[in-house]
Amino acid sequence: MIPATDWKQFARSLGLVVEHLPLPQGIPAVLAGQSLLLVSNMLSASLVTLAAWHEIGHLALHAGDMESWSALPGGSALLARFEREAWQFALVFPSWDIEDILAALEAIHSFGILPGTLIHALARCTYEEVP
Ligand SMILES: [Zn+2]
Repeated sequence: MIPATDWKQFARSLGLVVEHLPLPQGIPAVLAGQSLLLVSNMLSASLVTLAAWHEIGHLALHAGDMESWSALPGGSALLARFEREAWQFALVFPSWDIEDILAALEAIHSFGILPGTLIHALARCTYEEVP
């Protein structure tokens, strides 16, 4: 299990360069191509950690660039699925300290960013764990 707080180390092991900078409001992290992960230096560490794992999830799960995927027939549904999968990855792949994940989810909620996709991912995680 990789502690969620070790995201930077994990990102570097995938060959990502991590840069902290003031991103536009409402954007905690974003992938720039396949080798650069930009993270906000103005948001809470727990929110940035969750968002960074989400972006790492895209890198790990979704080859190719989002624009060409979205141009395909059914592309928007595919992108919505990618979003859910990346949130699921962020929630279940690393090992979270309960305080950190609650703080991150609270921050996301209060921001009003990351609409339904995260809720769906959470719901699916919950349902899948029920026998
Ligand atoms: Zn995403």
